[in-house]
Amino acid sequence: MSTAASAPSGDRRPLVVMEQVNKHFGDLHVLRDIDLTVHEGEVVVLIGPSGSGKSTLCRTINRLETIESGSISIDGRPLPEEGKALAQLRSDVGMVFQSFNLFAHKTILDNVTLGPTKVRGVGRKDAEARARQLLDRVGVGHQADKYPAQLSGGQQQRVAIARSLAMDPKVMLFDEPTSALDPEMINEVLDVMTQLARSGMTMIVVTHEMGFARKAADRVVFMSDGRIVEQATPEQFFTNPQSDRAKDFLGKIL
Ligand code: ADP
Ligand code: MG
Repeated sequence: MSTAASAPSGDRRPLVVMEQVNKHFGDLHVLRDIDLTVHEGEVVVLIGPSGSGKSTLCRTINRLETIESGSISIDGRPLPEEGKALAQLRSDVGMVFQSFNLFAHKTILDNVTLGPTKVRGVGRKDAEARARQLLDRVGVGHQADKYPAQLSGGQQQRVAIARSLAMDPKVMLFDEPTSALDPEMINEVLDVMTQLARSGMTMIVVTHEMGFARKAADRVVFMSDGRIVEQATPEQFFTNPQSDRAKDFLGKIL
């Protein structure tokens, strides 16, 4: 196990801190003694075999899943249990899933303004101006008045990213955001994520796209059977994995 997490964290502040986190589903121990710190502006790519606990780990960070022991804090604050504080946390932690989950009966623009107007109390006009800016940034500004079904999967996923960004999250979680896309649309989404990474967003990304990991990640975290087995820079991890499990995994996917 490589404890030197060789990320260039410098003196940047820790934004997501997980300490000794454990989680079961019934008899299944899905997160085992997880220690993970992600610093402001850092991009962490989480990889590992199917069923190793990557999605569950992400979901504990915005409390879509509860944990049984250990602690998680965001920007120095422990995860709230419920109520207003939990709603605030959810808007601090943006999440983009494999399925885009846009509201089918709302326009693209309304999908992006909904959170800021309903949850953050931003005025309609300001929310729209910001939404249009974000839609431009992800390359779908000209689709603002359409409905999700009129867009391609790649465009919908970029809208989903814009929708998360509209809440001004402190950290963005991506759980296999390109897995449901046709191959020709994968890059347009990865390009938006790469830009976002370069803009300084703190990101945790579960993906099998190793090209993205090499290009955008500060650190690769490898999970297996609910544990963080190894972590290193992409360069170190891909050229010189330490554990047998990581070697085996890379042998299958590369
Ligand atoms: P990964 O994202 O790495 O594929 P997951 O976090 O989705 O892994 O799942 C880890 C393990 O937990 C798997 O064995 C999965 O079947 C199990 N699991 C995930 N969610 C649930 C759930 N809600 N109830 C029961 N078991 C679950
Ligand atoms: Mg998963």
